[in-house]
Amino acid sequence: MTSEFALIARHFTRPGRSAILGIGDDAALLAPTAGMQLAVSVDALVAGRHFLPSVAPERLGHKALAVNLSDLAAMGAVPRWALLAITLPAADEAWLAGFTRGFFRLAEQHRVELVGGDTTRGPLNIGITVLGEVEAGRALRRDGARPGDDIWVSGQLGGAALGLRHARGELSLAGADAAACRDRLDLPEPRLALGRLLGDGLAHAAIDVSDGLLADLGHILDRSGVGATVDYSAVPLEPALAGNPGLIAACALHGGDDYELCFTAPPGQAGAVCAAGARAGVPVTRIGRITAEPGLRLQDAAGRAVTVPCGGYDHFGDDGEG
Ligand code: ADP
Ligand code: MG
Repeated sequence: MTSEFALIARHFTRPGRSAILGIGDDAALLAPTAGMQLAVSVDALVAGRHFLPSVAPERLGHKALAVNLSDLAAMGAVPRWALLAITLPAADEAWLAGFTRGFFRLAEQHRVELVGGDTTRGPLNIGITVLGEVEAGRALRRDGARPGDDIWVSGQLGGAALGLRHARGELSLAGADAAACRDRLDLPEPRLALGRLLGDGLAHAAIDVSDGLLADLGHILDRSGVGATVDYSAVPLEPALAGNPGLIAACALHGGDDYELCFTAPPGQAGAVCAAGARAGVPVTRIGRITAEPGLRLQDAAGRAVTVPCGGYDHFGDDGEG
């Protein structure tokens, strides 16, 4: 029988980088860089709710960290440290080796150090806390959008929701589309480089798209006390949606899990925003405009109102089971 401490030593402990004290004591000791504020976020992933129980552990390790780093990207912060609270049904060494391979590959790519956590037995559940740093006053908040701002989104939307439908057997995508959408679902890339560049005086507000574009943009509007018009035809779509036009609204407007950034910036910054996207290696697309009038209005390219069924994921809403 493998002890909890052997598991921690074997799977979670890596040579330290910048923590004063990492894994092994009652608490980690961290020293933030002078002049920086800490950006701290936690996200839990529950089997059957946030991921399919059949997902490969290596992919799950990536996704669990990626969704947390995405929150730091949306704040314009640089990630530094992470804490991992994991509940496992059994001490499955092969599963843990896979999980940590995915976790640490992404952690190393972004120079994130795992400095502590908790390991217990129970139904599979993964809670990760991430800590990042951002210059005082420079964080990208949800409450900074102003009337007249352009609304932008990075990457393409709808792939993760389409991949989930495919994985559940609700539709069948052709080979390359199936693989691309499954990767969008399992292997999101946190847009950290873009978030950093946007925080350099370009964007007024930002959020990561985890619950669906319209729901998440709605959070910016609520927090900023503004409204928006969105050009439905401008929303950048996962290529596989071309073959499933009936799913565009459900997957690209209401589908979650894409982890792209939605942000607002003054029109005068449009060139700089495109340059930031090019530098960060991710396309950025202007999809609408912030208005003083509250509410979210969808339009077609000719400015005519478009209505789509409402949605967006809410764990305690009608579509969640609670
Ligand atoms: P305590 O009893 O003080 O909570 P634990 O025995 O739970 O300590 O953990 C021992 C050390 O291992 C602590 O430093 C803790 O942060 C670390 N640790 C435990 N589980 C994990 C994990 N899943 N990932 C990273 N560090 C962990
Ligand atoms: Mg503990």
